[in-house]
Amino acid sequence: RARSISDLPGVGPTTASKLVEAGYGTIEAIAVATPEELVAAAGIPLSTAQKIIKAARQLLDIRFKTAKEVKEERMHLRKITTGSSNLDELLGGGVETKTITEFFGEFGSGKSQISHQLSVNVQLPADQGGLTEGDKIAKAVYIDTEGTFRWERIEQMARCLGMDPELVMENIYYMRAVNSDHQMAVVEELFELVPKENVKLVVVDSVTSHFRAEYPGRENLALRQQKLNKHLHQLGRLAEVFNVAVVITNQVMARPDVFYGDPTQAVGGHVLYHAPGVRVQLKKSRGNKRIARMVDAPHLPEGETVFAITECGIRD
Ligand code: ADP
Repeated sequence: RARSISDLPGVGPTTASKLVEAGYGTIEAIAVATPEELVAAAGIPLSTAQKIIKAARQLLDIRFKTAKEVKEERMHLRKITTGSSNLDELLGGGVETKTITEFFGEFGSGKSQISHQLSVNVQLPADQGGLTEGDKIAKAVYIDTEGTFRWERIEQMARCLGMDPELVMENIYYMRAVNSDHQMAVVEELFELVPKENVKLVVVDSVTSHFRAEYPGRENLALRQQKLNKHLHQLGRLAEVFNVAVVITNQVMARPDVFYGDPTQAVGGHVLYHAPGVRVQLKKSRGNKRIARMVDAPHLPEGETVFAITECGIRD
């Protein structure tokens, strides 16, 4: 029987429904919440909230682990092929679960194409670079902030891989996020959807555009970064708790001098200063070629490689 939050000591029917309503409908969501969040959500005493969180963590086996256990867990991390063996190699085998991977670069550098391709590839069987096991299809969530998602592209990419395009499209949950608050609310909802539907990839394309538009200029930088950090933290939790891959894109200008007012540019343009994750910079090259560069990855060597954007999608 699936465990529900009502199995946690201290969670009666009233508390349970309040928690569900506030987005804490799963044991996972509760395990990574703060006591203050639960107090605000369900109007329970702080000590009860602490007890509930502790019980949820015990149920999920969140505790100190030895380095050896960490090593064994890392070996179970799963990887999604990008479609390019060069790019896969740069990424240490592909886009990893339990990790946020950021693709940043100028307009047209391939961020959306990679996002589309991964949404298809995650559905491939495990021995072909996807995360589908037997008949348990690994699905994708695509959060689109700029309206650049194209179902036609998904269809085309699926066909090239010999997959049923209709089926592939049915296994991608699409959401157009209308502003940054909506974008964050959608991710909270994913704490329910991801485990229920066996989602193994969450794409946010682009993660930064609403935040930049709503908090423009230097004077809003602190507030913007604070909100963005919360969003990234939320995505990080999602990746960690459900063993999914999170892919975010971030558009940066090719000419930083044009963008001198934005201090994020000065530090390389990526947004994941603090959050753990993998950052890949994309650059246009000749024709359909693109250059990918690994930027300060915690466990991967820095380096560069070349891939191509073709009719069929991302290839060498
Ligand atoms: P961004 O980094 O702005 O998200 P995209 O991922 O949208 O950039 O990449 C856009 C590029 O992808 C285009 O310049 C084009 O070269 C290529 N592209 C898009 N669709 C196709 C297609 N059907 N066939 C070949 N190349 C394509």
